[in-house]
Amino acid sequence: MSKPKEYSWMTKDKLMTYTFFALLILTIITAAMWSMETTPSGWNLGLTLGINAIIAVGIAVGLDVFLHKITADSPLNILSAAVFGLIVTDSYSLGVPVMRTVELFPLEAPQCFIYIVLITVVGLVVFKKIVGTTGKKIVNPAAAAKLLVTIPFVQSLLIAIDHLKSSALGVPALSGPIALSSVVDKNGAASFGTYIVSCFSNASGKLPDQFTTNNLLQTMFLEKFHGWPGGAVTLAVIIVGVAFFVVARRYVKWRITLSYFAVVAILSLILSFAYGDADLYTRLLFELFIGSSIFLAFFMATDPATTPLTYTGQLIFGAGTAIITVLMQTYTQFFGASFVALVIMNLTVPILDKIGRTKPTTESKEPKLPKAKAFAPEKIKEYQCMKCGACMRVCCHGLSPILIKQAFDKQDFDTLIKLHADYCTGCGHCTFVCPSRIDLRNSILRAKAMLRQQ
Ligand code: SF4
Ligand code: SF4
Repeated sequence: MSKPKEYSWMTKDKLMTYTFFALLILTIITAAMWSMETTPSGWNLGLTLGINAIIAVGIAVGLDVFLHKITADSPLNILSAAVFGLIVTDSYSLGVPVMRTVELFPLEAPQCFIYIVLITVVGLVVFKKIVGTTGKKIVNPAAAAKLLVTIPFVQSLLIAIDHLKSSALGVPALSGPIALSSVVDKNGAASFGTYIVSCFSNASGKLPDQFTTNNLLQTMFLEKFHGWPGGAVTLAVIIVGVAFFVVARRYVKWRITLSYFAVVAILSLILSFAYGDADLYTRLLFELFIGSSIFLAFFMATDPATTPLTYTGQLIFGAGTAIITVLMQTYTQFFGASFVALVIMNLTVPILDKIGRTKPTTESKEPKLPKAKAFAPEKIKEYQCMKCGACMRVCCHGLSPILIKQAFDKQDFDTLIKLHADYCTGCGHCTFVCPSRIDLRNSILRAKAMLRQQ
C-alpha cells in the first residue's frame, strides 16, 4: 500500500460543502420566516421558496450528472451544482411588496417556478458548462443567467423608463434628498423610510402609524418580505457569512466583501451630503442591507472562479461592484442592480488579475501554511483550478504558480520568462495548499527545466 500524502486540510469538496450548508441555513431561515405570508395568488411564500430550492438544486444536480454521462469533457461536480442551485434560489426576487398588484415581473408562484427552471438551465449549461470547457468561467453563472432570462423584462427592471413614465412600480427616487419621515420622493407618495418599511414588511401585518428608526432597523436587519430570499434576514447573512469566512479564510475572497461594503457606505454618505438628506442612516441602511446587496456581497461577489486572484484586484473588484450598484440604484431606480454590476465587473477580471501580483524574487521567505492532513493516495482527487489564489500566497519566491502552470500547458515561453518560472526551488508549498489538488510543483519544475533547455 502506498504511503499517505500530506496536503492542506481544505479540499474543493469541503469548501463546496461548507458553502452549500451556509446557503441552506439562510434558505431555511427565510423560508421559515416567509411561511407566515400568503401571496395574492394564494401561495404560501415560504413554501414557494422551498419549491424553488428543490427545483433549482434538483435540475442543477440532474443536469450535471446527465452532461457528465453524455459528454467526455464535462466533469462531475455535484456539490458545485448544488451550490449553484441554491445561489439561483436565493438571488431570485420573490415576495409581496407594496407594488404586488402590478404584474410586471413574476414575483409569485406559480409563474416564478418557470423562471427558476430557465435561470438554472441557462446558468448551468451556458455559463458553467459550455463556458467552463474553455477552462475559464467568465461571468458569475447565476447572475449572468438571471440577466439573460430577465431581458424580456428589462423595461420594467431598468425602471427608469417605466417608472418615469407611469410610476407603475412606485419606486421612489434616490437621486434627490431622502429621509425616514419627510415626504421627499419624486412620486410624492411617501417618504423613503415609509417606502422601505412598507415595501419589505409582511403584507398581512399592520404597518405602524408613525415610522421610527427602530422600524427601519428592524426591517433592514431582521425581516424583509420582499426581494432576494438569501438577503431577507441581514443579521443571519452576517453571522453565517462571517462564520464561513473565518473557517475558509485562506480560500475565500472576503476582501471583496469588505471593500464592497466600505465603498457602498462611503458613496451613500457622499450622496447623502450632496443631496442634503434629512438624516444620514436611511440611504446608508438601504444601500448596505437591501437583500440583493447583502447576499451578493457575501455569497456571489466572492465566487472564486469569476473574481481576481490578487488581493489588490479583489479590493478593486469589490469597490467597482459597489460603485456600479449604487449609481444604478440612484440614477436608474433599478433597485437590486448589484447582479448587473457583478457581471460587468466579472468582465474586468483579466485586467485586474495583472494588478498587485507579488514580485518574484530569488530570496526565499517561509510562508505561514494551513493545517496539514494526510490523505490516502486513492482519496486524492484532482479538480479544475477554482481560482482561489491560495497557491500565489504561499510561494516562498513570490511566484504565481497557477499562472506559470497555465503558461506551461500552453507552452508559452515568453510568459514563463516574464513570470520567472526559473526561480522555483521545488518546495511544494503551492501543491500542498491547493484545494483542487493540482500538482503545481511538478508542472513548474518541468517549466523551469524547459526554460533551461531553451
Ligand atoms: S514549488 Fe516552486 S512555485 Fe511552488 S511554492 Fe515552491 S517555489 Fe513556489
Ligand atoms: S491552482 Fe492555485 S488558484 Fe487554482 S485552485 Fe489550486 S491553489 Fe487555488
